[in-house]
Amino acid sequence: MAEYLIKNGFVFDPVLGIKGDKADIAIKDGKIVETTALGSPKVIDAAGKTVMAGGVDIHAHVAGPKVNIGRNFRPEDKLFGYKARSGIERMQGGFSVPTTIRTGYNYARMGYTTVMEAAMPPLYARHTHEEMRDTPILDQGAYPVFGNNWFVLEYLKNHEIENAAAYIAWLLRATKGYAVKVVNPGGTEAWGWGLNCENVHDPVPYFDITPAQIVKGLIEANEHLGLPHSMHVHANNLGNPGNYTTTLDTFKLSEGIKPNSKFGRDQVMHHTHVQFHSYGGDSWVNVESKAKEIMDYVNSHENITIDMGQVTLDETTTMTADGPFEHHLTELNHLKWANADVELETGSGVVPYVYSPNIKVCAIQWAIGLELALFAKDPMRIFITTDHPNAGPFIRYPRVIKWLMSTEAREQQFDAFKHKDKVIEATNLAGIDRELNLYEIAQMTRAGPAKALGLAHMYGGLAPGLEADVAIYDFNPNEPYAPDDIETAFLNAEHLFKTGVQVVRDHNIASNGNKRTLWVNAKVDENPQVMRDVKEKFLRYYTVTLNNYEVTGHYLPNPYVIEVDATE
Ligand SMILES: [Zn+2]
Repeated sequence: MAEYLIKNGFVFDPVLGIKGDKADIAIKDGKIVETTALGSPKVIDAAGKTVMAGGVDIHAHVAGPKVNIGRNFRPEDKLFGYKARSGIERMQGGFSVPTTIRTGYNYARMGYTTVMEAAMPPLYARHTHEEMRDTPILDQGAYPVFGNNWFVLEYLKNHEIENAAAYIAWLLRATKGYAVKVVNPGGTEAWGWGLNCENVHDPVPYFDITPAQIVKGLIEANEHLGLPHSMHVHANNLGNPGNYTTTLDTFKLSEGIKPNSKFGRDQVMHHTHVQFHSYGGDSWVNVESKAKEIMDYVNSHENITIDMGQVTLDETTTMTADGPFEHHLTELNHLKWANADVELETGSGVVPYVYSPNIKVCAIQWAIGLELALFAKDPMRIFITTDHPNAGPFIRYPRVIKWLMSTEAREQQFDAFKHKDKVIEATNLAGIDRELNLYEIAQMTRAGPAKALGLAHMYGGLAPGLEADVAIYDFNPNEPYAPDDIETAFLNAEHLFKTGVQVVRDHNIASNGNKRTLWVNAKVDENPQVMRDVKEKFLRYYTVTLNNYEVTGHYLPNPYVIEVDATE
């Protein structure tokens, strides 16, 4: 492999603690090395440019059945253009639900190298892995959903944490999954009965368990196993006025549980797309921001990480395992609706959505997302996401960065709102003059998510020994710039290296890379009861046999296995 020396760039790296000083970054055999370890490297002149580690996305919906439903039933989304810029590129299309190829290329163009698929229905893990396999360049992993799974509901109802943990370990292995994901705990199962769970104590029909028991039990099982990532939750009551109390109730379920992981994380809960969970008021007429109350809690409780779920004011496609929410949404906006039930495991829905700057609620949502990040005391615990494609497509991350770094950019957006005064009244954002710097952006998009995922030994920084994932942006932070220069630079990385391979050269895709799929192999003591339960449920209820369920080798041509031993 070629050696590279990236010279004289302004480096922003939370792992090394470099805050924009000039430094040289050396790449050899796919890793970052000391500059003295190089022989005769190719030299990249990064003078006057910004250098960061490759971006890490902790939560996006980029592969699997509901993403594909979105592609199939929204042909209009493809009108946003097909483009192949260089000889190496393959055919690609789509905006809010891009094809796999476009997903890989567009993330790479933004300087991202690792992207986690946030909700994998276990039964359709094979489909999810097929799509990830076809997504070029990126290292990826997928989170199987557990919060409405019949095994989990039965074990946790009786507080059988060891059985739940053994089942989780088995399912991670069977689906080649990365982490424990929970979506509307109990609520999606209740949706099978035409119901929902609207708060943490709302019982799940038939199973006689509450969302609080599910979340707490899954945190305990997660820590029993010592998995790399903490339990990753999308709480009940998403998207409803007044829901911030449910969010705080969910946060509190993490209290008193100690993290048990050798992978460097300090948290036991990751709460995703918190923007959708930070609403006050009791109707869409009086909905208001409770971002301050939410961040007061997050700032004072170190055992939680969150991501934003920033609304980008685009036409997009919502998709989630939160089936009852999507039904609610189609009743609100009267756009087309798809719904699916996944046997014993989960469900999902898909509905298009237009976040219009002319609609007051959309503008309030936009402000709330930014408030979360701007109220954050520790940027290592709050990460930039749009819950792609739910609050907007990931291709808008550079725009989100612009809004976070520039009060001028935020004022321009406020001026474009039809109900500007009402939005200012219902939110805090107009009174916030904080502008994030590039070091904080690197914390929120690189070092922070890598650490929360238990992957700080691989990603998120530029220290020798880490994967050589390096982005170079044509942006000089020491010269005057307009807000739009930030977005332009972060949308078009000049160069990008992925495990030492140059995948973007002079703003163009230069290689389809050497992508890997990460999964967690958790070793547990033999548990005959759980294996009996698995066999029985497959015989009695599943439409497939166990033999047709497991994800096998050819789905992951280039696997990267994180080994966990819970027997120690
Ligand atoms: Zn999501």
